[in-house]
Amino acid sequence: PIYLDYHATTPCDPRVVEVMLPYLTGDFGNPASGFHVYGRRAARAVEMAREQVAALIGAQASEIVFTSGATESNNLVLLGLTSSDQSRRRIVTTAVEHKSVLEPCRILHERGFEVVVLPVLPDGTVDLAAAEAAINEETLLVSVQTANNEIGSIQPIAVLAELAHRRGALLHTDAAQAVGKIPFNVEELGIDFASVSAHKLYGPKGIGALYVRSGLRRRLTPLLLGGGQEFNLRPGTLNVPAIVGFGEACRLAREEMPEEARRVAALRDLLESQLANRIPGLRFNGHRTRRLPGNSSITFPKIEADVLIANVPEVALSTGSACSSGTIEPSHVLTAIGLDWEEAHATIRIGIGRFTTREEIERAAHLIAIAWERLVEAGQ
Ligand code: PMP
Repeated sequence: PIYLDYHATTPCDPRVVEVMLPYLTGDFGNPASGFHVYGRRAARAVEMAREQVAALIGAQASEIVFTSGATESNNLVLLGLTSSDQSRRRIVTTAVEHKSVLEPCRILHERGFEVVVLPVLPDGTVDLAAAEAAINEETLLVSVQTANNEIGSIQPIAVLAELAHRRGALLHTDAAQAVGKIPFNVEELGIDFASVSAHKLYGPKGIGALYVRSGLRRRLTPLLLGGGQEFNLRPGTLNVPAIVGFGEACRLAREEMPEEARRVAALRDLLESQLANRIPGLRFNGHRTRRLPGNSSITFPKIEADVLIANVPEVALSTGSACSSGTIEPSHVLTAIGLDWEEAHATIRIGIGRFTTREEIERAAHLIAIAWERLVEAGQ
């Protein structure tokens, strides 16, 4: 099938796989084995990857902590910061965060933290007036995603960082969907912590990073206990092949992002216009301009999304985040932007990426439109 679910995950770029392979076989050493060349070679490879990840987001290598992905990075910052620092007891987040932010927040609420969940505007961006009112001298951390995994909306992170810092709070952003897709620089945005995931940017699954601004590392308590790897923040033997692949994926993204983003956005616009031409009453969700280039969230009239998807088996589509599909609850993101139950259940998410072609987009638009027409004719 034509793969249009790049928000769920991306394939490894073959160039990424190429650089990983030697680290699965000949260069298999443990980077902590400093006595021999096996270990030293692995350690060098990890440090090079750390620099490549750092370079993509405008950080220093010493500010990158490798984790198993954005889920772990989100948990590490939310749980790790709050277990060592209880001087301030308010956490501010938003209604459209990924579950790996919202679930730790739920636990923090149970532990007595005051969790403020900011509403978003119908375009999916955070209500800044509400943010300004919520971020106060009691606030320890503001955690707001950079871009949404369902509707693609990009948040005003620089403004939020400024609001947070003015009150002495720290700013964390879950940048899993943004890094490698849109310009993202921790210095320009004023970020203290950022979560990154390799498998969203054509790297392998199960590897990611937490950016920790220099000087803040000691404020985090590790989630796991063991050896001293990753600056005593994340014990366990490093996944060297995955880290090397993550580094290469970041290097490629840095080189190719501007052109790729333009190409992917043009394909997305083509898909949206072809569908809009054939289906009256289509609704596109998310911010019209401040949106991920490959994202399209579409609410269809008169049908249910899962029925539509089942009738387009030649295209790999999704109703919402892969992590919560399979439940009959409507997506919390779609609910937060004001869609009712019926609209949320009539919404599909399309993710376009590096390997999507124009032919695939034209074919997918045609197949989706035909399926919709048939379903409506048959009265579903
Ligand atoms: N945050 C966002 C916004 C995501 O889209 C995802 C992946 N669905 C995650 C966090 C979790 O990332 P990982 O798969 O690396 O744990």
